[in-house]
Amino acid sequence: MKKYLAIASILLVAPLLSAQQAPSLDALKQEALVETDKMQTFTQQMVDQIFSYSELGFQEFETSKYVTGIVEKNGFEIEKGIAGIPTAWVATYGSGKPVIAFITDEDCIPRASQKPGVAYHDPLIEGAPGHGEGHNSGMAVNVTAALVLKKQMDKYHLAGTIKIFPGIAEELVATKAFYVRAGYFKDVDIVLGTHVGDEFSTSYSTGKGIWSGVVSVQYFFHGKAAHAAFAPWDGRSALDAVELMDVAWDFNREHLRLSQRSHRVIINGGEQPNVVPSEAAVWYYFRELDYPHIKSLYELGNTIADSAAKSTGTTVDHKLVGSAWPPFYNKVIAEVQQKNIEAVGMPTWTDADQTLAKAVQKEIGKNATGLKEKIEPLSAPAEHLNGGASDDVGDISWNVPMVYLFYPANIPELPGHSWVNAIAMATPIAHKGSTAGAKVQAMTALDFLLKPELVRQAWDYFRNVQTKQAKYESFLSPDDKPAIELNTEKMQKFLPQLKKLYFDPSKYKTYLEQLGITYPTVRANP
Ligand SMILES: [Zn+2]
Repeated sequence: MKKYLAIASILLVAPLLSAQQAPSLDALKQEALVETDKMQTFTQQMVDQIFSYSELGFQEFETSKYVTGIVEKNGFEIEKGIAGIPTAWVATYGSGKPVIAFITDEDCIPRASQKPGVAYHDPLIEGAPGHGEGHNSGMAVNVTAALVLKKQMDKYHLAGTIKIFPGIAEELVATKAFYVRAGYFKDVDIVLGTHVGDEFSTSYSTGKGIWSGVVSVQYFFHGKAAHAAFAPWDGRSALDAVELMDVAWDFNREHLRLSQRSHRVIINGGEQPNVVPSEAAVWYYFRELDYPHIKSLYELGNTIADSAAKSTGTTVDHKLVGSAWPPFYNKVIAEVQQKNIEAVGMPTWTDADQTLAKAVQKEIGKNATGLKEKIEPLSAPAEHLNGGASDDVGDISWNVPMVYLFYPANIPELPGHSWVNAIAMATPIAHKGSTAGAKVQAMTALDFLLKPELVRQAWDYFRNVQTKQAKYESFLSPDDKPAIELNTEKMQKFLPQLKKLYFDPSKYKTYLEQLGITYPTVRANP
């Protein structure tokens, strides 16, 4: 009897034994580091390829085709066109809990075209879009990490699901609230976002959030056309209404909180001076630190638009084209991630990397401090925020515990959203920074895949700290639709020229090589 019991218990234990053959968490992380290093050429090619596509928000057709092609070939299941956005998608691998989602942006900046590795303004195509935010590197980070994890999940039969999402039109803060509304984060346990930075860092929130939230609104005024000299009294100028709205908004600024940021561009100012403009439009970003204040700025904008229309005998309607809650980052995940950042360490920069960085800093009138060499410590967030940039991952962060990893793939002290920020983004600086980011992304995912108690702790922070103070409410009304028409014309204009410059990794090792650029190219007397 004893003998039978012994055999029976061996049989019962046998499947467990094969699962136990998976190495320890530390050994898995070590293996992930080695595997990520082996993929350096793959990571570099992705960074360079997406840099060469240079696609604006909602126009990420080549980029999305390229990235989904890679992950699909590697066994991920793809759903395309999610949340009514043609260039959006989600890739899924594995099964069961926990569900860990990677997210990063892939769109670029208008007029930011720039030759990589050249330390002064030298556009690849004059006036064309370019990766002047460095969003070309994030997918290289996330896909590299996801493929490393996939290999380990297969090898050791690890339970859990990896999802990859693209940040479509992040520069327009225009999609993630729609992903949330469509339910794509309902079954997700942990979100690991990545974003290009000039430092290796993560952060967490204790108050309302980090940075600002925003609504992005376009106001369309409608007047009456007439000959501007022969019968101006028969016309009603929509441009007058736009200008009046802008003046009224500026008079209001004095009475707004210091933490607000609001800015505008006139997207339609009429056709020619001798025609009273019957149509004109202005596009505002209203930023504040929390939902009630963002909402009240938005309502003030609507009131001012209505009164500008009344004062000019025109009419107005508006369209919400983007919105974002102030991002809130989870302390539990940030602490886990920080340890991984410290384990990976900063990339090793060469003299060439530092020469480029210093020449760029000098070119724009900053101190030539070069690239950072040290890891930032994880510190408590500032008590008082003064407002600043926004990111539409904010909406996700109020639905699922998340953090943002900043990996060191760009030069410090840059202005952001400009050609300057594109210089390093297809050079060894971006390549090495992306590999470092992929390592942390893979290691942090392993922590949460293998330790269910960490997932519980992250949710505990989400429920008992974060959402105790504020409850998520979308800025979107049920009628709001993604503004997928944005940037169509701008992109079409440059597409034929851009296509000629797409990176061809079958012929060249790097994009710098394809372009024939000496690295680094700096002024003779920088
Ligand atoms: Zn960004």
